[in-house]
Amino acid sequence: MAPAVSRVELVPIFEDNYVFVLVDEGKKEALVVDPGEAKAVASYLQREGLSLKGILLTHHHSDHVGGVKELKSSFSAPVFAPQKNKNQISYADQFVKEGDEISVGGFSFSVMELPGHTLGHVAYWNQTKKWLFSGDVLFGLGCGRLFEGTYEQMYQSLQRIKSLPSETLVYCTHEYTETNLHFCKMLSNLDDSPITGDDEGLALYENELTNRRSLNLPSVPLKLFIEKKVNPFLLARNVQQFTYLRELRNKQ
Ligand code: ZN
Ligand code: FE
Repeated sequence: MAPAVSRVELVPIFEDNYVFVLVDEGKKEALVVDPGEAKAVASYLQREGLSLKGILLTHHHSDHVGGVKELKSSFSAPVFAPQKNKNQISYADQFVKEGDEISVGGFSFSVMELPGHTLGHVAYWNQTKKWLFSGDVLFGLGCGRLFEGTYEQMYQSLQRIKSLPSETLVYCTHEYTETNLHFCKMLSNLDDSPITGDDEGLALYENELTNRRSLNLPSVPLKLFIEKKVNPFLLARNVQQFTYLRELRNKQ
């Protein structure tokens, strides 16, 4: 018997969000991560004949949870949300925290708490596939804004992502990579740039990114191995450097 094939589908919503649908082809089952809107996700599930086994949430922002109630009531799937967002996401069925191991519809995840963008932000790590569903922490050549957490927290959260295996694929929620590329180029042109990354790596990144985006293909999932070489926020050597970069990026 051929092994069951599983894959991650990207359903674009709004301007630049992706909802991730994890599909188990053998069982025709699916999980959904951060459905900011229900309609596009529901039609994808129906078109593919998939039954929804669970909804995973990384944090409470409306572009990540906006479609949850509707999906939950149409498909009666359990909702997993960060323990620290118990007040904001009171309708969840199971609250998760650092170190929890959860098993949903044939997929297993370890929960990582990654505060900074919000205080309760979590990521879901699938060890078998080396998939990380990381919401708004790391982006292509960038990182999330700090709405609730401190620079120290965000820096440490990024360090934790950095310490995952190099072959990790990072499923981040937003298609911000091209905008972040401009920031990286500006940064490498500074006389006193604090970051020394891999310039050839960045040039290759740009070439591939331009090709993909001109074909309307996503830049997600990110390859952690590559981000570690070129993403300035992963190259920052300490909190001070990280803070400097994040503040500079805010001004853009
Ligand atoms: Zn957010
Ligand atoms: Fe977001």
